[in-house]
Amino acid sequence: MSLNEKADFIREIVAEDLRTNKYQGRVHTRFPPEPNGYLHIGHAKSINLNYGIARENPGGVCNLRFDDTNPEKEEQEYVDSIIADVQWISNEKPSTVYYASDYFEQMYQYAVDLIRKGKAYVCDLNADEIRESRGTLTEPGKDSPYRNRSVEENLALFSRMRKGEFPDGAKTLRAKIDMASPNINLRDPIMYRIVHEDHHRQGSAWCIYPTYDWAHGLEDSIERITHSICTLEFENHRPLYDWFLDALGVYHPQQIEFARLNLSYTVLSKRRLLQLVQEGHVTGWDDPRMPTIAGYRRRGYTPEAIRTFCEKIGVSKKDSIIDVALLEWSIREDLNKHAQRAMAVLRPLKVVITNYPEGKTEDLPALNNPEDETAGTRLIPFSRELYIEADDFRESPPPKYHRLSPGKEVRLRAAYIIKCEEVVKDASGNVVELHCTYDPETKSGGTAAGRKVKGTIHWVSAPHAVEGEVWLYDRLFLKEDPNEVTEGDSFLSNLNPDSLEIVSHCKLEPMLGTAKPGSRFQFERVGYFCADPARAESGAPIFNRTVTLKDTWAKIEQKGAAPNAGSGR
Ligand code: ATP
Ligand code: MG
Repeated sequence: MSLNEKADFIREIVAEDLRTNKYQGRVHTRFPPEPNGYLHIGHAKSINLNYGIARENPGGVCNLRFDDTNPEKEEQEYVDSIIADVQWISNEKPSTVYYASDYFEQMYQYAVDLIRKGKAYVCDLNADEIRESRGTLTEPGKDSPYRNRSVEENLALFSRMRKGEFPDGAKTLRAKIDMASPNINLRDPIMYRIVHEDHHRQGSAWCIYPTYDWAHGLEDSIERITHSICTLEFENHRPLYDWFLDALGVYHPQQIEFARLNLSYTVLSKRRLLQLVQEGHVTGWDDPRMPTIAGYRRRGYTPEAIRTFCEKIGVSKKDSIIDVALLEWSIREDLNKHAQRAMAVLRPLKVVITNYPEGKTEDLPALNNPEDETAGTRLIPFSRELYIEADDFRESPPPKYHRLSPGKEVRLRAAYIIKCEEVVKDASGNVVELHCTYDPETKSGGTAAGRKVKGTIHWVSAPHAVEGEVWLYDRLFLKEDPNEVTEGDSFLSNLNPDSLEIVSHCKLEPMLGTAKPGSRFQFERVGYFCADPARAESGAPIFNRTVTLKDTWAKIEQKGAAPNAGSGR
């Protein structure tokens, strides 16, 4: 895709800066996750944007940087998962991984610098007192009684804070800006807090930790980032970002804000996703129902589809909710072009072909992917006993139902036309088996190969079938905006109790028995599926439904009309 096609306001800013030579022709972005959870699809939008802009410009670079300034919530497990996910989404191995915590000493020296310049002070107010004295949107704040400490006193106290002489919360370092500023973020914001907590990389080296506002611009400046792209909620933090860098007189990147991704029927907040994991509403961060990168990967999404989705939604400054159907469309498009076709019967009904010789097996060629000639064919076994989908038979077919019913014919995909001669029922009247005859001339290459019947269905040879489990996923939340709740309820009240249906004893064509974890298939007429790394207790392979096919029949049945309906999906 050319730059023009996906021009957005951020790319326009970058192009303009290149024209005016603002950063000597450099383009240097960063993706700065905090390692306090797994990445979600919103992060994919940011990765795509930052890595995309770097890639589109000659010499452009994007840093993966961990914003690991808060030891209480950060863990190595998250660092590892984030590196893997960024690589998967960006299709680029991060050459160097940067850590904000590597700059702690330098940040400390910068803070000493600000104290020397009379622009920062040690404050003894506790968190509540600071909040109370901060004022409101309509009222100015009150100066801290510690605001006018001497430079010497501040330097001495700050050094003692670092040495661990004070307990958590006893003191903070604050910027001395303006307690009457109309922008509350500028009312002497906190730069350092005392937190006696080990850091996942620094161990016990530090007991004072920088706040986001103080640290972030410095991280960008140290790495000589040109365009620091973040989400809209930081727009009114930008004056502070600028103030710190100007006060220090250091290299000054430019912060640019864009609207974060919101998806319908989905929560995208690490705090809430963590809650889903910790309280066991899902099986883990990589549960295929989770909107995490790890979840989508396990569910069978491709990075290409996620990137396509990110291109489609674009980048803007206006908040909106994107329809999750667009993400589903992106993966369906991709898998339709690339996924290997396979036969799988989820709810089997036995069919006996009474005029087919007992003990005979034929290997029939089946197309691996009708969308891709180069994908070739594979051989699938056909025999006297088969399984078809129970739903592909109706004893009393509704009008325009073109699948199998008594006395009617249907084509078995890649095989023969069969006719239903007899319906076998159990004592309570349930259909347990069908007796059919086949027309031997209707297979590929036969004299009646071209004979047309209205319906085509899928099937699996009974003696050759592999048993498998199929996990059908539905939306995790029932509400378009899961955060919309009645008073007193949490977003959990919007969880979909039927978001997972496990179908056991599915009958799969033989090749699926050895499918590698992560391999993707279209189960013909059923949907797109991906082999899970885990196996069922019985040892059977598990397939996760990535996304449904467009089910025209179900739609038509719902509407009560049936033009051109039938087998064709
Ligand atoms: P969350 O709000 O989900 O907890 P976060 O913003 O705290 O996420 P970070 O680890 O700080 O998570 O995010 C890393 C980068 O990803 C930031 O630059 C942030 O702006 C961006 N990002 C996070 N969520 C979204 C989103 N929903 N859409 C677009 N970008 C996002
Ligand atoms: Mg954050």
